[in-house]
Amino acid sequence: MGREKRHDILFEPIKLGPKVLKNRFWQVPHCNGAGSDKPGMQASFRGMKAEGGWGAVFTEVCFITHDSDIHPWVGSKIIDEGDVRNLSLMCDSIHAHGGLAGVELTHATSFGFNAETREPTRAASQIPHEFEPMASARAMTIKEIRQIQREHVDAALRARAAGFDLLTVYVGLSTIPQHFLYRTHNKRTDEYGGSFENRCRFTRELLEMMREEIDDCAIGIRFPIDTLPEPFGHGDLGIKAEDEGVAFIKAMDDLVDYWDINIGTLNWGEDAGSSRFFDSNHQALYTQHAKKASKKPVINVGRFTDPEVMIKAINSGQCDIIGAARPSIADPFLPKKIEEGLYNDIRECIGCNICVSRWEKGGPPIWCTQNPTSGEEYRRGWHPEKYVPTDNPDLPIVVVGAGPAGLECAMTLGLRGYNTVHLIEAEAEIGGHLRWVSKLPGFGAWKRVIDWRETQIRTKTNVQIILNNRLNYQDILECGAERIVFATGSNWDETGMSSLLHDDIAGANASKPEICTPEQYCVHGKKLGKRVLVIDNDPYYMGSAMAQLIAENGHEVTYATYGDTVGPYLRLVLEEQRMLMRLMELGVTTINHHIAVAVENGNATLVDIWKGEEMTVEYDSVMLVTHKTSNCDLYDQLQGSPDDMSNAGIKSIHLIGDAHTPSVIAQATFSGTRLAREFDSDNPDQHKPFIRERRLLNATEKDYQLDAETLLVKPYH
Ligand code: ADP
Ligand code: SF4
Repeated sequence: MGREKRHDILFEPIKLGPKVLKNRFWQVPHCNGAGSDKPGMQASFRGMKAEGGWGAVFTEVCFITHDSDIHPWVGSKIIDEGDVRNLSLMCDSIHAHGGLAGVELTHATSFGFNAETREPTRAASQIPHEFEPMASARAMTIKEIRQIQREHVDAALRARAAGFDLLTVYVGLSTIPQHFLYRTHNKRTDEYGGSFENRCRFTRELLEMMREEIDDCAIGIRFPIDTLPEPFGHGDLGIKAEDEGVAFIKAMDDLVDYWDINIGTLNWGEDAGSSRFFDSNHQALYTQHAKKASKKPVINVGRFTDPEVMIKAINSGQCDIIGAARPSIADPFLPKKIEEGLYNDIRECIGCNICVSRWEKGGPPIWCTQNPTSGEEYRRGWHPEKYVPTDNPDLPIVVVGAGPAGLECAMTLGLRGYNTVHLIEAEAEIGGHLRWVSKLPGFGAWKRVIDWRETQIRTKTNVQIILNNRLNYQDILECGAERIVFATGSNWDETGMSSLLHDDIAGANASKPEICTPEQYCVHGKKLGKRVLVIDNDPYYMGSAMAQLIAENGHEVTYATYGDTVGPYLRLVLEEQRMLMRLMELGVTTINHHIAVAVENGNATLVDIWKGEEMTVEYDSVMLVTHKTSNCDLYDQLQGSPDDMSNAGIKSIHLIGDAHTPSVIAQATFSGTRLAREFDSDNPDQHKPFIRERRLLNATEKDYQLDAETLLVKPYH
């Protein structure tokens, strides 16, 4: 089946100044943890997108001077000739697949705390930074403004020398041009401050200087057209799409070749909106104004994964080009799949923002829930669409448990050509914990993890899925497989054990009628009383999601957490603000920085983590969200009985996903693909060595390439 005719528009070339974009797919700048210090990872990661059909592929924020250092967060740099050399590899890998290479030229102004370089930084006005504690900057004189404009142009020239085709000046998320433009950050009284025209002057002059020296690259701007109302953004002092948003576009339009438009501020959860709170194309309300103001091609973002939504955005006059960060991470081959009409193969981003969270944690590599090969293209040599064929296709394999880990593992084994894989699941449906988690409010898109893998298994492999079959020890011994993978998952703890107390909560025992776990409530229908205390000792979403669900079901909910707001990992996936607002809307009573130590006779004792003082909360029911415990009994029992295994002809057993270590879904899918891709290695439970990009004394380029083989961990005994 070819592609639908109506999708042809997505494959029409479009002119961008001196360059031609081959189609309408644009990987907008986004971080991956590679920067310019890991050129192999950067080149392979971005090159994979170009191979998958993205017409334009960008770096992440690319810093132009030493006083623009946001360490420990990782961006790329185009500061010196070393960076030119390293980033040229990325450009080459994009060009090799017919893509245009783009760079996002960035000066982080007062956001640059310069922890690594120790350089003091510069800004439009001396205002400490709202997000980076302890960061401030020098308010520049006119002479210093000229200097920094020159430095931008020099960086653009270096980028051109590296091979970049598209030079984006970043006027958002705390950059110097943005600080000049925003009244919130520009308090100057000279010709660079005050009136709108004055606040635009820095960027206009900069673009004019770039144009004077560069005529063979396309030059554009990335611009959040609206900084959003309070409490999400700058409110009345900020940029409003229909007002200064449109005015800025008109003021610069003659000097740019394209506009990459998004929304928001450094509080970027409104831009990289998670699927729990935002639909695909959720920015259209604001971004649609750009095209009316510009004669140049306009790019929009909004978690576009569906070609129907894409063509609607283009045909309605909202934008010309589909921009994407997360959809391109989850599926580097999204454009190719649409081009070839392989719609069912699209691995849609689930909008969980785990990718974002890894950057927010300050380090490489990127993780993706849907695409576990993301970030592994170079160091492990993994390809999202290619699998090394096995030379032992008839090996009988059983995978126990069809959650994310088991599905990924069985699918990958099947795609590698193993023909006798049985994926055995106790329940009537596949999906593991996502069977019920994807039914929680807002979590519907997470089911894509299951659906995509099921489609791949059913259409492309010989893997047999067997349902309603809970294997016990004897069943395992009789199953006839030589190799068995246990992906049997985990369950929420029934006693209140957590990382906070390192012990059970006194009186907490979910066999009592008034004490409940998420699974007991959502899967087994355990009843709750009127007043429910949700004890959230877990860092991620489950505690607050339970509070939301139970409140929506009509109970009076008190939510107690050790955190400042909700589970602290929600800040890293950019869901904290929206989640807290939802709980407030629902009238949930929130108790922060308290740990529950006892739940007895309708009274819970909570201890203030700072003052040590105790308080009592009355309840009818308690929802325990504390930690997850692995279901690994079968594996452990077999491992302890080598004779049983050998009598049964079982050559090896393996443990993956939550059954090994309870964690996020991204770790489960990673563990599934890792084992399956390395299934025929000497010791598949041990990760194969991978390339570590680092300084190697006396190294040649070959040493780096062979790093994994030549420098593996040696046993010294
Ligand atoms: P993960 O995220 O690691 O994939 P999940 O908890 O989501 O883990 O999924 C584990 C799956 O394993 C569940 O669907 C569960 O029903 C299944 N399972 C657990 N024990 C057995 C067993 N003994 N036999 C068959 N399936 C099992
Ligand atoms: Fe999408 Fe989640 Fe992957 Fe990020 S981690 S690209 S949000 S599926």
